[in-house]
Order: sequence, then C-alpha cells, then structure tokens
Amino acid sequence: MRVRDALQGDPATRGERRLLLEAVLDCSHAWLASHPEALLDEAQDQRYRALVARRAAGEPVAYLVGRREFYGLPLAVTPDVLIPRPETEGLVDWALECLPPGSPAAVLDLGTGSGAIAVALLHERPGLAVTAVDRSPAALTVAAQNAARHHPPGSRPIRFLAGDWYAPVPGERFRLILANPPYVAGGDPHLAQGDLRFEPPAALASGPEGLDDLRRIVAQAPRHLDAGGQLLVEHGHDQGPACAALFAAAGLRDVTLRHDLGGLPRLTGGRYPGPGEQD
Ligand code: GLN
Repeated sequence: MRVRDALQGDPATRGERRLLLEAVLDCSHAWLASHPEALLDEAQDQRYRALVARRAAGEPVAYLVGRREFYGLPLAVTPDVLIPRPETEGLVDWALECLPPGSPAAVLDLGTGSGAIAVALLHERPGLAVTAVDRSPAALTVAAQNAARHHPPGSRPIRFLAGDWYAPVPGERFRLILANPPYVAGGDPHLAQGDLRFEPPAALASGPEGLDDLRRIVAQAPRHLDAGGQLLVEHGHDQGPACAALFAAAGLRDVTLRHDLGGLPRLTGGRYPGPGEQD
C-alpha cells in the first residue's frame, strides 16, 4: 500500500488517518504530505491497518499514537493519563497572566496527569519552582517523561510528588495553585461516550455532582496559598455558580469566571487575601 492509498476514505477522518500513519512511519506531517507515492512495507502496512481498526472501535487517537500536543509542546500520553484538552490551555494562559516573566514563584499543579499544565508553565516561565502532584504513580511516570523532554535549560526540575491533592505538601504555601481535577458527575452519560470511555475514570468522575474533588481542593487552598496567592481551577460548564460558592466559602476574594474558546464558562479563579486583610 502507498501513502496516498492509506489516506483514502471518509474526508471527516482523514486527519486522524494522517496522524496514525505518521506514527507508524515515524515521519513528520510535511514528509507525509510530500511523499504520497511512498510504499509501506509489510510490517508498516499491518501496524497501520491495526491502528485504523482500533480507532474505528473508538480508541482515542492520542492513545493510539502515544502523543498529544498541548500549548505547542508534543506530550507523551498513555491510558494512565487524561488526554490534554485545548480548553485547559486557558488555565495556562490565566496562570501566565498571574506570573510575570522571570518570576521565581512557587506553583502547585494538583492532579498533574500527563504533566501538561506543569510542563507548559515551566516552559513559558523557566524561573518558576513547580511542584506537581498526582495520586497515580503511573501518571507521574508519564509526567516526568514529559518534563524531562521539555525541561528548559537552567530551570529547577519540576518536583513530582505522589499523593492525594495537598497530602504530599503539608505546611507548604504557594503563589499559585492550579488544578484540572476530575469534575464529571458520576452518572453523566458522556462517561460512556467517545474518548472518555478509554480514559482513567479516576481522572474524570468525582461524586454525584462532579464536585467532590473541587470541594476539597478549594476548601484547603487557604492553607496552601501565600497571602495574595491565587487558585485557578477548571470545571464543567454548568459548575460555575457552585465553584464560585465554594471559593467564597473558603474566604477567597475577587472570584472570577472565565470562558473557554467555545464560549462556555469553564474556569474559576480567586485570591487568598491572607489572615491580615479586613473587609
Ligand atoms: N474536560 C473533560 C471532559 O468532559 C473532563 C476532564 C476532567 O474531568 N478534568 O471531556
């Protein structure tokens, strides 16, 4: 089979076939585009057909090719981690607004998964002291691999810690805490659809309303933020009011809701005033 023939088929899934073929041939997009006559050998042919069949059965492209781009960086992904999503780039954008270039601030990424947020942040702000926590040792292995691959020369290595939310950082405070926690409601039918069927359930679902982990992350944030420090979280499009209430109950101020590229309210941020600030 030639490259040209391998890419034939439904125009809607041509982009996916291209990604699968690039993985099999270990070639770039540009090479593939300029070599339509290149011939796949027998082994490549079989591997490609197997991937196309698995994709047709629903497996996410990112898991099949073992990578996904996030904030311009190619990241390794495995079924041990949530596939990084474009809307989470908004969380990185917001964090960068809070952290001037050259900032040496301490930042905490809770539930780092593939390490997407931590790695992108350090790449943009190489002076930061980044700590990334995940409960899953398998996820931390993937995250450490991504951190090593994209480590800015001269930066402090990301400190990866295994454990539940703040458990690995007792008594520590940070300038900024970020989280893209599980926030899908346990009974949400989306869990049985599309890519979500193949992703780690523990990275997606969080109690009957999807708020169990957000509650813990927000409630304990004041114990781990510097005075004036900020908490920024991603959540479901219908969880903005609930998140705002959690932030207020935790004593966080200047609570702000931001929208994703699709116009949905998906991010909430707030500032910890510290023990001294009066109303
Ligand atoms: N954004 C994901 C989805 O609904 C969920 C990710 C998460 O729970 N953090 O597809």
